[in-house]
Parts: sequence; C-alpha cells; structure tokens
Amino acid sequence: MRFSKLRLNGFKSFVDPTELVIADGLTGVVGPNGCGKSNLLEALRWVMGETRAKAMRGGGMEDVIFAGTSSRPARNFAEVSLQIDNSERLAPSGFNDSDILEIVRRITRDVGSAYKSNGKDVRARDVQMLFADASTGAHSPALVRQGQIAELINAKPKARRRILEEAAGISGLYQRRHEAELKLKNTEANLLRVDDVIEQLA
Ligand code: ATP
Repeated sequence: MRFSKLRLNGFKSFVDPTELVIADGLTGVVGPNGCGKSNLLEALRWVMGETRAKAMRGGGMEDVIFAGTSSRPARNFAEVSLQIDNSERLAPSGFNDSDILEIVRRITRDVGSAYKSNGKDVRARDVQMLFADASTGAHSPALVRQGQIAELINAKPKARRRILEEAAGISGLYQRRHEAELKLKNTEANLLRVDDVIEQLA
C-alpha cells in the first residue's frame, strides 16, 4: 500500500482545505520554523488512528482542531483524509475492494472522532488494524518526530522491542493477542461466577 495524497481541513494550523500529493520517490517538505511541517506528520499519524493526545502535542484530542487566530475564528471540526494506492490489493479483507482507498477521520467539538473508508463508516479499531497489519500505523517507527532519536537511545528494552516488532510487521498480531487475553480473562471471571451460582444452588 502506498500513500498517494493527504488532505487536511481545519487540522491544527491548516485551517483551509490543503492537499499534499505524495508522488513516487522522495517527498521533502521545507519551510520556516512554525509553518506546520510537524503538523503534517501528526496529521498522518492521526488519520491512522492515534489516540494519545500527547503524541499530537496537545492536552486533549480536540486540540487538533484549528484554535483560531486574531483574524480568524476557531473551527468546530478537523478532518484529515489519506488516499492510498491499493492497486496491488495489499489491504486486509474488508478494505480490499478498490484500487484507491480513502480513509477519513473527522473530529467534531463535543462529539468526538468518526472514521470512514471510501465513504462508509468504519470503527477506529478497523482503521488501526489496517495500518498495523501494513506495518505503518500511528506508532510506526517510520514516523520519526522531533526528539524521538534521543528517546530511543534512552528507551527501556521493552520499548525497543516494540519498535522491532513494528518493523517486523507483527504488531497487528500483538494487538490481536492482547484482545484474546482480555477475552480469556473475562471468560475466566464468568466461569468463577458460574461456580458461585452452582455452589449456591447445591
Ligand atoms: P519547526 O521547524 O520549528 O519544528 P514546524 O514547521 O514543524 O516548525 P509545526 O510545529 O508543525 O511547525 O507548527 C506549529 C504551528 O502550528 C504553530 O504556529 C502553532 O501555533 C500552530 N498550531 C498548532 N496547533 C494549532 C491549532 N490547534 N490551531 C491553530 N494553530 C495551531
């Protein structure tokens, strides 16, 4: 899967609809300090399902919505859309019925986030799994933010292992294992409850 276009609307400093075409080869974004280069990378991470406001350099997720300036009022929503070239059909089933995949995430004040895939409502988890299976995703080591290299050098072994797992493309499996463990715990708790009921009836 190859990213081909990123569209932003009301996301952080990108108050007006903005389109970034990601052509074949290397794409460089240059500009003066504070012009929004890091915001672009955060938009990528956000549309792939980032849930940690801190990773977006905000206190809460609504901080990604354009907050207004002295000359422009704040916006009520932010939207980021990521177009993916899926002509090789590398997306997982459920996402794999077209050559071009468009994932849209929109956040509305006091309402929260909603996701769409080619116009159809999808769950946050489905979008996160789509990118986790493709070894990209909000936590991908391919997205390197400022200060991250120093953090990596000082990271604990467990955190470093996560990065290797991500690079090896097994983080989707890791997430599924975690979900299976939670289900197992719930089932064990239910079994204990059944034992209690049987004991009371005996
Ligand atoms: P540098 O080269 O210094 O790292 P940069 O080009 O990466 O800068 P960013 O950090 O992406 O720039 O952008 C910072 C700008 O985004 C600041 O001007 C900040 O005011 C603006 N900004 C961040 N969040 C919002 C928001 N919610 N609403 C409006 N503007 C915002």
